[in-house]
Amino acid sequence: KKFIYPFKDGGKEMKSLLGGKGANLSEMTKLGLPIPQGFVITTEASMKYYEEEKKIWKGLKKEIEQNLKNLEAVTDKNFGGDNPLFVSVRSGAAISMPGMMDTILNLGLNDKTYKLLATQTGNEQFAFNSYKRFIQMFSEVVYGIEKYKYDLLEKELEKNGTEKEAYIKEYKNLFKSEVNFKFPEDPMDQLLAAIEAVFSSWNNPRAIYYRNLNNIPHDIGTGVTVQSMVFGNMGDTSGTGVVFTRNPSCGENKLFGEFLINAQGEDVVAGIRTPKKIEELEAVMPETYKELIDLCNLLEDHYKDMQDIEFTIENNELYILQTRNGKRTANAAIKVATDLVNEGIITKEKAIMMIEPEMISQLLHPTFSEEELANSEVLVTGLAASPGAATGRVYFSSEKIKENNGGILVRLETSPEDIEGMNIADGILTVRGGMTSHAAVVARGMGRCCICGCGSMDLDEEKKEFKVGNITVSEGEYISLNGSTGNVYLGELNKSDSGLTDEFKMILDWSSEIGAMKVLANADTPLDAKVAYDFGANGIGLCRTEHMFFEEKKINHVREMILAENSHERKIALDNILPLQRLDFIGIFEAMKGNSVTVRLIDPPLHEFLPKEKEEKLKLTKSMGITMEDIENRMLKLEELNPMLGHRGCRLGITYPEIYEMQSRAIIEAAIEVKKSGIDVKPEIMIPLVGKVEELGYLRERLVSVVDEVIENSGIELEYKIGTMIEVPRACVTAGEIAKEADFFSFGTNDLTQITFGYSRDDAGKFISDYREKDILEADPFETIDIKGVGKLMEMAVTLGRGEKKNLKIGICGEHGGDPKSIEFFHSIGLAYVSCSPYRIPIAKLAVAQNTI
Ligand code: ADP
Ligand code: MG
Ligand code: MG
Repeated sequence: KKFIYPFKDGGKEMKSLLGGKGANLSEMTKLGLPIPQGFVITTEASMKYYEEEKKIWKGLKKEIEQNLKNLEAVTDKNFGGDNPLFVSVRSGAAISMPGMMDTILNLGLNDKTYKLLATQTGNEQFAFNSYKRFIQMFSEVVYGIEKYKYDLLEKELEKNGTEKEAYIKEYKNLFKSEVNFKFPEDPMDQLLAAIEAVFSSWNNPRAIYYRNLNNIPHDIGTGVTVQSMVFGNMGDTSGTGVVFTRNPSCGENKLFGEFLINAQGEDVVAGIRTPKKIEELEAVMPETYKELIDLCNLLEDHYKDMQDIEFTIENNELYILQTRNGKRTANAAIKVATDLVNEGIITKEKAIMMIEPEMISQLLHPTFSEEELANSEVLVTGLAASPGAATGRVYFSSEKIKENNGGILVRLETSPEDIEGMNIADGILTVRGGMTSHAAVVARGMGRCCICGCGSMDLDEEKKEFKVGNITVSEGEYISLNGSTGNVYLGELNKSDSGLTDEFKMILDWSSEIGAMKVLANADTPLDAKVAYDFGANGIGLCRTEHMFFEEKKINHVREMILAENSHERKIALDNILPLQRLDFIGIFEAMKGNSVTVRLIDPPLHEFLPKEKEEKLKLTKSMGITMEDIENRMLKLEELNPMLGHRGCRLGITYPEIYEMQSRAIIEAAIEVKKSGIDVKPEIMIPLVGKVEELGYLRERLVSVVDEVIENSGIELEYKIGTMIEVPRACVTAGEIAKEADFFSFGTNDLTQITFGYSRDDAGKFISDYREKDILEADPFETIDIKGVGKLMEMAVTLGRGEKKNLKIGICGEHGGDPKSIEFFHSIGLAYVSCSPYRIPIAKLAVAQNTI
């Protein structure tokens, strides 16, 4: 079996075998681009390394040697020889994990090749810098010797004005004192050690954390690229940079990037020197700049997506070192996708596939209001690296952020070790680093608000404070970040809801055109209904009536109803509630403008509505004309040991049919009123927690007679449906019978999951994370539907239900309705709609469209 491919033999379709970096270097080689040549050790080799060999095995070593020989021939150089070849050893998985694994540059340098490099280039300083850097990188990546140790040594040697030769000796002495053997002079030894280290970096803690965070599997392994070096640090005609073919922050179709003259490798990304804007390269090297622009256009045309390109210039020669589809903010993703469609480069379907559903949730979240911004004074301004609005307490380390479970992470610069802290932080602020720095790239990927390169801040990490002019901000104080402008404010600014951009609406429209399932909203108030409608909801799939009961005006009447001791008392209370409830429904029907609205009759156990405060109870003694003792006694009678499985849902409806009758009357009266005003209405009455068809049959008969009478008296025509939630396992198993009495089914997957697993929704948090760590649960079943268990019951219910009634309308209205992974399953079992909270609607629409394509 072959474990190594030279660039010329690979291609972009070989991503899973070569990793993204290797596959794209191969592709660009085939396109005839200026790529320093090299070869890629496959991801399969890395998996074999972890799982079986744990070291470089004989066959692999042979292949490495052979490929190195070929590389010597191609480059006309020799490894460790008189015309020395130098290489980089680079990591790269099939799914890009920027900065999470390791890279070593300038490999092949030793005392001999160092001298040759110096004389052959006539640039001793350059050779010296490259050598120093190699020793440090090799030490860090292969043997975990921390960089700061070399930094300290460097300071000391600089101070003493140490000569180059002695300087290098000191570097190697440090190496030896750390590991107890000499620095390897043989380039082949260096190479094999570096390859092993890059293999191993797949399992470093930050890479593992990143994979968990982004749901990247742990068993795909990394490719290792061995590539001949080009040097951006040879002097003023050399340099290195990163460029995006479009703006990764806002999506604008304009080259965006940074470069540094006389610099190597990660210098731009590391944020140690603040880089220059890419446009400025034109003045410095006009020819090269033009060439770069041409190559950017070529690559974007070829990959049909925004590219993130790494380049190096060696003595005015341009080389491309990497290209990949650029990470971008949700805003940019939407802008780029719609622009590409409008430019005729991709189809609508492709555009929809380019946007990650989860990612767009960022856009639905609040920003600082214009007004608030106008009235606040800017403390300091940095680069607007990742948009959004963040407020929080200032902390100067990822540890502190973790301890406090959030806050604004303020650092000189971030490093890959900060990844966890950055994820937990509400926002990120750095003193150094540009728009392509680690902080910026990672924050954009996470959708975290970030401001970088805030150079006029004076940060003292030891004292735990920073100064801007004469203002000092200490740990724990509040600041606010506006990631869209780069402005930092003192204190906590208020946020307001953000609207949808035209491009976002375009994507949602295309999603609706393409999507096979409808997306409805879980909305309980006229206000929620309006938000949902604006996000493109096709109706309301779940309107929970009990939420309306808590309103100030109603709650006392609701309590009177609950504590009533006979139907006469109850009727008085219900008569008071009826008009109020009708008013709510009118608002909701109007907001939905003719789309169907499914109203669920009261579901929770009644004691949930009862008063806890003495004052509230006093109110009841007055309105009901009974004593405090009476109240307490009646409340006591309602107490249950296990209310979730107690007297709730249709069980209440059967004990107190007058409650459900009142609610149905309110729904239908509201519908009639709205219809009379000229707006179409499609009311659906939904009965919760049905497990036996008899429950539904009993209620249906009573409700139909009330409702039909109301309609008849109104003199207008109104269609309505009466259906049921499917949320207890018995309902799934007997769905054929239940379908006889139901006009529609709606899966209540929250309760269905709770009862199927026997996990209490309200308490399961305690052990679910434990279960996930121990690989007993793959995901939280309350977040992502459990296909094997709960899903099986759902499938059964669909088959039985449609067996009885061929066109039975079936949907789902649990939390899972807005979860893209669950949506994939719902689509596969043929549901007609998903219903989710208003803010998840755009996500669900996109996910539905993606599953249809
Ligand atoms: P990462 O995956 O973290 O981006 P890379 O493998 O891309 O790591 O390496 C980081 C940087 O090192 C590159 O952006 C490039 O500037 C530099 N580099 C890597 N290989 C070479 C090479 N063969 N010649 C010159 N520079 C290189
Ligand atoms: Mg890179
Ligand atoms: Mg339920």
